[in-house]
Amino acid sequence: METKYIFVTGGVVSSLGKGIISSSLAAILKARGYRVTIQKFDPYINIDPGTLNPYEHGECYVTVDGHEADLDLGHYERFTNVRTTRANNVTTGRIYQSVIDKERRGDYLGKTVQIIPHITDEIKRNVLRLGTTGDYDFIITEIGGTVGDIESLPFLESVRQLKWELGQNCVCIHLTYVPYISAAKELKTKPTQHSVKQLQQVGIQPDILVLRTEHEIPASMLRKIAQFCNVSADAVIQSIDVPSIYEVPLSMHRQHLDEIVMAKTNIPVVGEPNMAPWVNFVDKMKNATREVTIGLVGKYVELQDAYKSINESLLHAAVYNNRRLKLKYIHSEKLTGSNVDDMLKDLDGVVIAPGFGQRGIEGKFVALKWCREHDIPTFGICLGMQCMVIEFARNVLGLTDANSTEMDPSTPHNVIDLMEEQKSVHNMGGTMRLGAYDCRLDETSLAAKAYGSTTVSERHRHRFEFNNDYRQQFEDAGMKCVGRNPETGLVEVVEIQGKKWMIGTQYHPEYSSTVLNPSPLFLSFINAAIHHQK
Ligand code: GLN
Repeated sequence: METKYIFVTGGVVSSLGKGIISSSLAAILKARGYRVTIQKFDPYINIDPGTLNPYEHGECYVTVDGHEADLDLGHYERFTNVRTTRANNVTTGRIYQSVIDKERRGDYLGKTVQIIPHITDEIKRNVLRLGTTGDYDFIITEIGGTVGDIESLPFLESVRQLKWELGQNCVCIHLTYVPYISAAKELKTKPTQHSVKQLQQVGIQPDILVLRTEHEIPASMLRKIAQFCNVSADAVIQSIDVPSIYEVPLSMHRQHLDEIVMAKTNIPVVGEPNMAPWVNFVDKMKNATREVTIGLVGKYVELQDAYKSINESLLHAAVYNNRRLKLKYIHSEKLTGSNVDDMLKDLDGVVIAPGFGQRGIEGKFVALKWCREHDIPTFGICLGMQCMVIEFARNVLGLTDANSTEMDPSTPHNVIDLMEEQKSVHNMGGTMRLGAYDCRLDETSLAAKAYGSTTVSERHRHRFEFNNDYRQQFEDAGMKCVGRNPETGLVEVVEIQGKKWMIGTQYHPEYSSTVLNPSPLFLSFINAAIHHQK
């Protein structure tokens, strides 16, 4: 079968959930047996989101090949179980960088370098790149931003050209918003009509409209939108608010989004997708009555997107443990010795979040000390693991001024220190220890038991590491370095012996938890939290 290209654009307002719609469609097509991948084109000028503050753009997701990516790639993986790579996320910055490099090399042979054709050709090459591998039947491309933004224009022009070139192998899905005016008790279609007009103005006629709405849109209104937007009547569907993003694939399938796409790309529609595992997950999620209460200690608690993958991994693990996840965000800057009792006492388990810099760090130590002394299942991730090490050094080893050199470059006890290869690094972008590395686990460790294996591979994003000079001292006092990188000896996992579940990972297991393949470590953590509850 020839590779089919599906473009997803958004109009009216941002944050409509293009990533969730793209992921949902991919999940259904995958359940039909097709090989699917999703890529995201972001119109901002940063080369990648690695240098972005989480307040700007939410979590930075990391692919196995070490690309710092938009958080939508996390949704893509969680919904499809398909690993993404650097090729799945391209920004305007990367497009320009590549064009400018070519210009400097003289590749354009004296031509004037322009947005059309040079930038658009570069975009098109990147859009088609995954198609040349022969690995995919469908490539879904999400165009970031909202139609009408100046910075989206080169991307939309590329989509227009590709649609013309690819013919029946290409469809455009446009996601818009149908607002409800409560004073008039009416849904309004005009913003959608205007948004489609804007697309038409740049030469793109959408093939399918997905209308985001908070109220059921009547069939007559869907028909009206189809007529005014020049879209076939059966290709206008609604995405009504649902309690969980994981219900969206089922809602899209009920409205035949997969069949519409197949029909429009000339694929005979036979049989049904096997959505049984997905339905099973959603049923479990909806039917769970008992709760498990987890506290997430971090400094970005006002912004749920900052810890997206952790939230989702906890949810996956809770569902497979037949529990409803009750997640409490605990602001590490507000946590002190005098309120810690109050803030943590109702929790079944605590996650100490990843992060960078000094802000909120003392609250993490307070939480960790309390959890260790009260034997609460505790999961430290990346900076959270480093804090676990520092807290143990200060309060158990008696190294009261122990620290990470990230927080105090002149600490006399640098139990967490800059990695050797990081010492000569000056550029901030893309220079951390990034992507998947192997970790060898001690056979008797809780972590090995959780994974059911002593060799695992997980993704990283850090510059600092456990200082192996202190290893013996830690191990003698009960904090064991149970996971190490087989080549470098870098400590990847620590466990405090004699506790129910106190594990710190230098890596981020949350990046690899998916709906159909939840993270073993999160499953084990939630399980421990449930036992602790009893
Ligand atoms: N700031 C720490 C480091 O760079 C931890 C990073 C993280 O939590 N992702 O090593």
